[in-house]
Amino acid sequence: MNKSKRYNNFATKAIHIGQEPEQVTGAVTVPLFQTSTYAQIEIGKHTGFEYARTQNPTRFAWEENIAALENGFAAYAFGSGLAAEDAVMKLLSAGDHVVCAEDMYGGTFRLFEKIFTRFGLSFSYVDMTNLEEVQKALRPNTKMVYSESPTNPMMRLTDLEAVAKIAHAHNALFVVDNTFATPYFQQPITLGADIVLHSATKYLGGHSDLISGVVITSKEEIASKLQFIQNAAGAVPGAFDCWLLLRSVKTLALRMQQHERNALGIASAIENHKNIHGIHYPGLASHPQHELAKRQMSGFGGIISIELGSYKNAQTFVNKLDVFILAESLGGVESLICHPVSMTHGSIPKEQREKLGITEGLVRLSCGIEDTEDLINDVLNALDY
Ligand SMILES: *Cc1c(COP(=O)(O)O)cnc(C)c1O
Repeated sequence: MNKSKRYNNFATKAIHIGQEPEQVTGAVTVPLFQTSTYAQIEIGKHTGFEYARTQNPTRFAWEENIAALENGFAAYAFGSGLAAEDAVMKLLSAGDHVVCAEDMYGGTFRLFEKIFTRFGLSFSYVDMTNLEEVQKALRPNTKMVYSESPTNPMMRLTDLEAVAKIAHAHNALFVVDNTFATPYFQQPITLGADIVLHSATKYLGGHSDLISGVVITSKEEIASKLQFIQNAAGAVPGAFDCWLLLRSVKTLALRMQQHERNALGIASAIENHKNIHGIHYPGLASHPQHELAKRQMSGFGGIISIELGSYKNAQTFVNKLDVFILAESLGGVESLICHPVSMTHGSIPKEQREKLGITEGLVRLSCGIEDTEDLINDVLNALDY
């Protein structure tokens, strides 16, 4: 971060921060420190590295890099996106209340409801596109406002600047799950977020070959608490996954550009197709929050959800796809398609799902970085039924 003067822009930072040539040999990639412990010089004297849950140079390099990309003060890496969320919730204490978006990632909802309610936290789920609802849900014991933007899979946006103000006026922390946008397209800390988190499994990893998570904070005081939790609760990632993330982040800018080019190409090509009953992509002028997207994001990302009208249509469509692979997850170089009701969002109660529009006919496309023309043709061909 001390190099911020020379490394002004995103791709340069992504390639260089935390990734200086190694001091002994000049290796241009950060070495993989695959070790659990470090030799000490004598009793009471060590190198600053004692045990790898607490300190690992490969992990530190990744944390320094992603902290800079999110304009944060510091970052802490975890073994998965959910482990990152788990660590963030441990900033709270029994009796605290959290206001959350009603359409978060299903696993987040499950973590909050099935685990943290047993430890005395309580949660209210609101439509975060409605600022009045956020305001009304605040209680005297509300200590955190938790949002995801854009959301999975309905691609709804939170007005991050406005919600940050509401949270701060109440002395509550504002947390943003920035997995879908990535820091390349959206930097919530610059809009007022105290904490940003990621499932690094998705775009940050970008190659569908690892599970990881990371938390970035803008505040020194929160950083020291997160560091304590990371070490005390211990959900750290392995060094090799950090090494892969350092490799991945070097192409984040290029990948995000192509993910978006492909999503925009597909969305425009199918928006008015007779078999499309609805399309959710913030890059389309028809998206109800297109103006907000243009204001708070520098791009619209690579995820599109489409409504096909019935389970049978969704099945026909998925079966006809050739390039898109049916799989959970998103954000990899290869295009994936998912049926949220039967896959990622099974843990959301049916009533809640239907209220949000997560129907049996909804599919979510994670547009990869293949050639745009091949993807458009694949989707158009599958819609021809
Ligand atoms: C996948 C995902 C998570 C969970 O991350 P894991 O790495 O699978 O634990 C959290 N939030 C969002 C938005 C996700 O897409």
